[in-house]
Amino acid sequence: MNCPNCKNPIQDNATSCEWCGFLILNVSFPSQVADTSKFIKAYCLKTGKKNMPLYNAIISKTKNGGYIANGDDGAGNPMAAMLNENTALKAIEDGVAKMHNN
Ligand SMILES: [Zn+2]
Repeated sequence: MNCPNCKNPIQDNATSCEWCGFLILNVSFPSQVADTSKFIKAYCLKTGKKNMPLYNAIISKTKNGGYIANGDDGAGNPMAAMLNENTALKAIEDGVAKMHNN
């Protein structure tokens, strides 16, 4: 397989990338990627914590031209965050969110 961060080839059972050091727990599920530094940050209604990494983020455009990201806290509790365009596009570019297909 290839490193999700630097795209260099790494062993299938590797837990970290030998090229860039990226931690790989399970590349198939974003919620299990160890590095959440690039994740969108959101407020969790359930725990009341701010700036929590937003897992499984899906970005939609709102009627007034803004962006909203819906996802969860990694444990299945729903979270959402309002984004400006730059943040939304950056998150998609970083691979930590997907654009909703209308
Ligand atoms: Zn790498």
